[in-house]
Amino acid sequence: MASGTSALHLALIQAGVTNEDEVICQSMTFSASANPIVYQGAKPVFVDSELDTWNMCPLLLEEAIKDRISKGNKPKAIIVVHLYGMPAKMDEILAISNKYGIILIEDAAGALGSTYKGKKCGTFGDFGVLSFNGNKIITTSGGGALVCKSDKDKQKAIFLATQARDNVPHNPFSNSFSDTFVP
Ligand SMILES: *Cc1c(COP(=O)(O)O)cnc(C)c1O
Repeated sequence: MASGTSALHLALIQAGVTNEDEVICQSMTFSASANPIVYQGAKPVFVDSELDTWNMCPLLLEEAIKDRISKGNKPKAIIVVHLYGMPAKMDEILAISNKYGIILIEDAAGALGSTYKGKKCGTFGDFGVLSFNGNKIITTSGGGALVCKSDKDKQKAIFLATQARDNVPHNPFSNSFSDTFVP
């Protein structure tokens, strides 16, 4: 991807987030974790941190989900951040996302190489996001990656990230990626 921000944006698009939706995000993070929620016209719901990792508090996460459901607004996705390369409490957060059936997006923009119980950050959620911006672990001046769970999600991400080109004879810039994805 062009950036970690664009990878987060694509994850939200794939999660089906629209201007009717709310997305849970952690309050202590870089603004780029929340900006793509607003790019989709959706509303961020901020959840505070816990003391051990400074990342999203699982107790407050569940409280927020219950509150939003009781108001008829079940959140469409959760963006959890591994801020400063410190893994969030993924066992608890995954259990909550599974319990309520809410898509989990992991912002591992600054956590390339970090592990949680032996597994790489960015590989737990439905989508994981990495950044290669100039201030990150591995830098390409600008760039990012979207980690997908399924081949279908991956093909759709590549399709959307390469100008959604149809693989047709009149398009000289069509590429082999779009062979496998039918929107
Ligand atoms: C850097 C960063 C981003 C955005 O990545 P860019 O590649 O700069 O767009 C998102 N979230 C967090 C936590 C970051 O540190």
